Amino acid sequence: MNTGLFFGSFNPVHIGHLIIANHMVEYGDLDQVWMVVSPHNPLKEKKSLAKDYDRLHLVRLAVEDNPYIRESNIEFDLPKPSYTVDTLAHLADKYPDRKFTLIMGGDNLATLHKWKNYEQILENNQIYVYQRPGAGEPVFGAHPNVRIFQAPLLNISATYIRKARKEGRSVRYLVPEPVFQYLDGSDMYTK
Ligand code: ATP
Repeated sequence: MNTGLFFGSFNPVHIGHLIIANHMVEYGDLDQVWMVVSPHNPLKEKKSLAKDYDRLHLVRLAVEDNPYIRESNIEFDLPKPSYTVDTLAHLADKYPDRKFTLIMGGDNLATLHKWKNYEQILENNQIYVYQRPGAGEPVFGAHPNVRIFQAPLLNISATYIRKARKEGRSVRYLVPEPVFQYLDGSDMYTK
């Protein structure tokens, strides 16, 4: 089984994220995509970051009707800050039958050389990269374990959604309907 890992703070999850996850299921060689919610980093106190389990809950609401995409809290109980190479080692241990493929934007791939043990990651895992505008030629683009995808991109960010919520505006259609319904009935991101 080939499982794609899409890491993010998902604060909150939005349709831009889901389009990427679904694109990788449809065009890649993946059985599933796991949306790995990054826990709060105690070294980086961030006021606007919602609680770990609230963000996870929103991702669950977003994908629960899709058998190919699921939420993951795998990093919540790992030492923080979490390094991808350590998360991958933990996953390989826990799911010996699965192969894990990283999903990332070209902007992230460009800084991969700064990640802890990035050579090991590149050696042991495939990386599916979606092009982001203005990124130019992808670094590591020619590596045999890197596969480039042209996915449709939306100009939506979680920052934009949080700002809209704070201003009392509706975020309907920017997030999946169950996420919208949940947010609408809560004060998440309004203060
Ligand atoms: P924020 O605005 O809070 O920085 P974000 O919307 O960029 O958040 P993240 O949780 O940081 O969301 O995103 C997880 C991953 O998804 C990151 O690698 C990010 O680059 C990517 N991503 C975010 N928005 C989009 C989008 N509209 N299209 C494609 N990829 C996206």
